[in-house]
Amino acid sequence: MNPNRSNQLQLNFSGLGCWVAILGAIWLLGAVGLGWVVKSLAVLVVLALAAPVLGFVGLRFWLRRNLVQGPCPVCNSALTGIKGAETACLSCGTPLRAEADGFARLTEAGTIDVTAVDVVDITAETQQILPDGD
Ligand SMILES: [Zn+2]
Repeated sequence: MNPNRSNQLQLNFSGLGCWVAILGAIWLLGAVGLGWVVKSLAVLVVLALAAPVLGFVGLRFWLRRNLVQGPCPVCNSALTGIKGAETACLSCGTPLRAEADGFARLTEAGTIDVTAVDVVDITAETQQILPDGD
């Protein structure tokens, strides 16, 4: 027996011949009572094609619900984070937590957050406007 006999048997799987061979194999499997193999393979192919699409749609849905965009409360630079995750501002390094309505500073319990306000010295301005009494 020639050991190279399997090399001499070549199938041309190009173009229409490929599809004819596949359909012939499907028909043959169905004819011998192995239709379930064809059906299970078809289900696997459909799942393999649908899984990336479903994953992409699911990821978009999850991102729409959980992605938080807002300014840093300290330096006001634009930030993006995932809701509930702790992160640090890329600009100023302040530790932050992403919440549903924006970002909040991570502070110890009992810390009071205050906002500095510029206070104009009214007496200095009025002295410049009003002429001296002399
Ligand atoms: Zn910042």
